[in-house]
Amino acid sequence: MKPSNQSTNIPTFSIIAPIYNEAKNIPELYRRVSEVMNSSGESWELVMVDDGSSDGSTDLMRELGAEDSRVRPVIFARNFGHQIAVTAGMDYSRGEAVVVIDADLQDPPEVILELIAKWREGYEVVYAVRTEREGESWFKLFTASVFYRLIQRITDVDIPLDTGDFRLVDRKVVDIMGQMRERHRFLRGMSSWIGFKQIGVEYERAERFAGETKYPLRKMIKFASDAITGFSYFPLQLATYIGFVAAGFSCLAIPVVIALRLAGSRAFYGQASTLIAVLFLGGVQLISLGILGEYIGRLYDEAKGRPLYVVWDAPEE
Ligand code: UDP
Ligand code: MG
Repeated sequence: MKPSNQSTNIPTFSIIAPIYNEAKNIPELYRRVSEVMNSSGESWELVMVDDGSSDGSTDLMRELGAEDSRVRPVIFARNFGHQIAVTAGMDYSRGEAVVVIDADLQDPPEVILELIAKWREGYEVVYAVRTEREGESWFKLFTASVFYRLIQRITDVDIPLDTGDFRLVDRKVVDIMGQMRERHRFLRGMSSWIGFKQIGVEYERAERFAGETKYPLRKMIKFASDAITGFSYFPLQLATYIGFVAAGFSCLAIPVVIALRLAGSRAFYGQASTLIAVLFLGGVQLISLGILGEYIGRLYDEAKGRPLYVVWDAPEE
């Protein structure tokens, strides 16, 4: 069993909840997390990261923080995005083990006890695997399923299927992730990349307690492209593959067309076939350029070296 820190101010567990307009969920989140964590018999803290909320979540967090010193509100200057909010939570966390959980209670806090049990067995990363998801549209389920499988195929890192950010990570892993300051973050990939002993615990993903998803399609696409570009060169290689196929195809087409002409055929005569070929290749070239642009844009973001987030207000120590 790992040593406990009860004698000092440092809690054993840090729970991190990124919050973007979740005012209706905050009281219930606090209630359920406190109940579960109190039953663990260890000291804990709840780091709530306000990602630029405008619905009163910020005041609620401040009030909770004033009432209960275990609640530590970290307030961003604006919306920086979910993955950055979780990163800030990790930066401000002090626990020996850190649990990342969604504020909308889709990740049941009760599962934390199972994650802790595995941590005590000696695992450094314990990720929660979704066996079922309630109350999500078929579109979200389908795109999520395709996304996880695509990521697994095209990246070098073994990122487990159907896992979200709901996981427990040991302090060692948190510290290493803290050193990985890439801007376009895919945290579940980063924690897999680190290695150590990792294991999954299955759970049923619940419905949102209140409110609506903060991940519209636009954010989902950005998230997916961060994941892919962050962990794979496959899109860049795609241009090479398509180039070879197109060049091979045209090499084959030349003798075929010559033979047809000699035989007196009028196939491939006229503008239509030329136009189609030009438009097709033009399209492929523009897509390849766009893919290059995605990587170059990310390089540029890294080169600027701006801080990952700007904090408006946070606990002192
Ligand atoms: N979230 C955030 N910043 C954002 C979007 C979302 O901090 O820009 C938080 C949100 O408040 C929630 C978690 O990230 O606690 C997961 O978001 P959501 O539940 O909307 O995603 P979904 O479960 O629908 O994928
Ligand atoms: Mg959710």
